[in-house]
Amino acid sequence: MSEAATPGFGRPRIGVLSVQGAFAEHADLLTRVGAEPVDVRSPGDLEGLDAIVLPGGESTTLGLVAHESGLLDALRDLLAGGLPALGTCAGMIVLARETTGGAQPLLGGMDIVVRRNAFGRQRNSFETGLAVPAMGAEPVDAVFIRAPWIERAGAGVEVLAQYAGHGVAARQGDLMVTAFHPELSGERRFHEWLVTRARERREGAPERRQDRVRAQ
Ligand code: GLN
Repeated sequence: MSEAATPGFGRPRIGVLSVQGAFAEHADLLTRVGAEPVDVRSPGDLEGLDAIVLPGGESTTLGLVAHESGLLDALRDLLAGGLPALGTCAGMIVLARETTGGAQPLLGGMDIVVRRNAFGRQRNSFETGLAVPAMGAEPVDAVFIRAPWIERAGAGVEVLAQYAGHGVAARQGDLMVTAFHPELSGERRFHEWLVTRARERREGAPERRQDRVRAQ
């Protein structure tokens, strides 16, 4: 068994919520940036994950299906325990504490209020070069599909990019959200960020720290 394939070493295990929506592209991209993607369809799939991706799709369906299977409660506990997460489009909505459109099952976790389908009819879908200075000087090739925007953000939230005067990417601790789909344009930096957080979490776990102390 190679070191990369040995549990506890090498590639971090990153879950991709795979109940509905655009999840396959995330798994491909995670593989390309050095993670082991894990399809998450039921609470048992969450075991041993170092991070999670919440993909795009339809946030009401995604929330309802995840709620019915018990995934929403289980994930909420993991996020409260510090599991790093990346939410894209519908995934950003699910990570928000509230939507402007009223009640729907959400995970919460990030102190943002989002407006669903915020860009209106003409601009339901579009692609643009977006400045995201926190991710480097090179603009992000951002694909927006019936995307939300951030209507309000709490003091602990860093809004990383704006489009048409509204927040479209944000970070709060180890949670990152984008209103657009980095996985559809080959944009790797958000997934790389998540892999780094996942590695830090794995290396910071008490049993791993002990291993390092013993090895010294
Ligand atoms: N419009 C969808 C929603 O509100 C999100 C679209 C997407 O994830 N591409 O749930």
